[in-house]
Amino acid sequence: MRLILLGAPGAGKGTVAKLLTQLDGSVQISTGDILRGAVQAGTELGRKAEVFMKAGDLVPDDLIMGIMEKRLRESDCAKGFLLDGFPRTIPQAEALKTILALLGVQLDGVANIEVPRQEILDRLTTRRTCVNTQCQAIYNVRSQPPKVEGICDQCGSPVVQRDDETEAAISHRLDIYNEKTTPLVDFYRQEGLLLTITAPTSEGVVNAIRERIAG
Ligand code: AMP
Repeated sequence: MRLILLGAPGAGKGTVAKLLTQLDGSVQISTGDILRGAVQAGTELGRKAEVFMKAGDLVPDDLIMGIMEKRLRESDCAKGFLLDGFPRTIPQAEALKTILALLGVQLDGVANIEVPRQEILDRLTTRRTCVNTQCQAIYNVRSQPPKVEGICDQCGSPVVQRDDETEAAISHRLDIYNEKTTPLVDFYRQEGLLLTITAPTSEGVVNAIRERIAG
């Protein structure tokens, strides 16, 4: 499956992507996970990206396209890919179109996961993430806490609130999403690729996508 998952921070793109990878071996590509890994590893990319991420701003398009051009050429993408958090701007979407044309690859669709703003704010302020960059498992202190408080079930690393998931940072990220990323809905509608999904749970979103793409 070759899919873009579009949706505000907290819409459940990561969870949906992980569920979809189990269906057909497609790989999840999350630019946020890649960037957090680079920040922790202290690479040049990480140092450049960190200041934008901490402020809840978007990392410049040229840095993101450098990552994605390389990643999409890797052999594990041959079975399919689920783009989680990318593209986030019109220039990124245009650049992606060029890369995919060069690779001779077509998208199956763009799933726009719509969740009301208040629900997003509730979800993100209660979300916790594993600090291990190889894991980055996601929990929720209310609906899906780790078995031992503050410790990842999967790898035993600490589970923390991300720096960019305080209420003020989230509010700013949502504003940025509305300004920079929402125009992609029209972009992909015009490309004939848009699937609007309003299911209330991640499993429901996965089923809706399967019916319309994989099915
Ligand atoms: P995420 O985990 O997808 O919410 O991403 C966390 C942060 O990484 C975002 O708030 C941005 O600062 C940065 N980021 C991730 N993906 C992109 C992208 N495609 N374009 C620009 N910045 C990004």
